[in-house]
Amino acid sequence: MLKRTKKFAALVLTGALFTTVLVGCGSKTESKSNEKIELTWMGFGQPQEKEVYDKVIKNFEAKYPNVKVKFVATTQDQYGTKIQAAMASNTLPDVFYASATDIRPWVNSDKLLNMTPYIEKQSDIKVESVWKKGLDKYRYDGKTSGAGDIYAMPKDVGPFGFAYNKTMFEKAGIPLPDKDKPYTWQEWVDICKKLTKDTNGDGKNDQFGTGLNINWTLQSFVWSNGGDWLDSSKTKITITDPKFVEALQFFADQTLKEKITPDAAQAQTLDTYQRWLKGELAFFPCAPWDVAAFKDLKFEYDLLPWPVGSTGKPATWMGSVGFAVSKTSKHPQEAVNFAMYLSADKDANQYVSDHQIQVPNIVDMAKNNYVKTEGKPANKEEFLQIIEDTDYGRALPAEYTYNAEWYNKFFEGIDSVLQGKKTAQQYCEEKQPVMQQLLDKAIEKEKKETKK
Ligand code: CA
Repeated sequence: MLKRTKKFAALVLTGALFTTVLVGCGSKTESKSNEKIELTWMGFGQPQEKEVYDKVIKNFEAKYPNVKVKFVATTQDQYGTKIQAAMASNTLPDVFYASATDIRPWVNSDKLLNMTPYIEKQSDIKVESVWKKGLDKYRYDGKTSGAGDIYAMPKDVGPFGFAYNKTMFEKAGIPLPDKDKPYTWQEWVDICKKLTKDTNGDGKNDQFGTGLNINWTLQSFVWSNGGDWLDSSKTKITITDPKFVEALQFFADQTLKEKITPDAAQAQTLDTYQRWLKGELAFFPCAPWDVAAFKDLKFEYDLLPWPVGSTGKPATWMGSVGFAVSKTSKHPQEAVNFAMYLSADKDANQYVSDHQIQVPNIVDMAKNNYVKTEGKPANKEEFLQIIEDTDYGRALPAEYTYNAEWYNKFFEGIDSVLQGKKTAQQYCEEKQPVMQQLLDKAIEKEKKETKK
């Protein structure tokens, strides 16, 4: 210990020159404490999120004084292109975001460091302290995901929850939802109809039951109705299943038949996210990353279970992104330490969750602190139920497959159903063979690229 301290002192004294000389001299083994190390982390996020992480980085640097972290923040839209370019030119940052779907192809193309041996070498953070469902997204044993070594640490577990405008309910004299008993679709539509109205008497509705984005909310309706995109072997597209078709038609009918959402023209003047913020919608999705933005809403809101189709059980997706380490990092141990720190250090996790970006990754902290914190939404427990209950909080369909092309194809042209130009039945029958072809290709690609 004394030796390390002396080396630090020497480092401080020699200052800038020392740093310059050492650039590019990193070794693959654990770096010596007198070596000045710079790690680069590339990620995406909102400006307020970057501010939070700048502070987390400062704390990490205080804990590891020989390590400096350069944080390159991009927008979420730019991220994919930038990381692909970095992969192509072999200039990956030390630490970067990877989604669950990325793990298998990126391991196969030798881009990701197997973090497990490095995780075992550090004793500060126990991976078991993190949500298992979050961590398992980034395990891969060479055959299937969900088991084996760890290729990324979860940045978050993102339960995609559902919220209601409590103030609107109270004004209309409608009993508040039961947090433990989901509405059936019919019950939900009935309430949405009651709350869709013209409040200022100009002949046009200006308050609506809901207004959902199909890309992120159709899953809930399909799953709670017993449908899915894939069969259990994850090799067959099952969107022509009547339960799936019924859910898609129900989704489109929220606008076409029930008229509980803004119509097409109204949707163009103001998107439904803005309408929710203005207090014009009764129901809207709410994920943990929304909580900071919803803090200053001029109405009360809370979480409730998603309405349920024929299964009687609510379902939604649980997203996540992970901190991965480049296989070419010159400082794999420090990079893993940093990824671990971001994911599961107690102070870092507390700080990030205090700033209402996410539910803590550390299970104890989520259960014992987060759910009891003051402030909206009161029913934070709902987020935890989505995380813990495997039927309630599911992986997005493309996480099970080698790429997302087949899944993205489903949504190309979905407007034709939403606008009533095609029935859900027609649409699903047309799409099924096209998607199956893309999925077959993905399966072939995985066979070819997976190392024996
Ligand atoms: Ca009006």
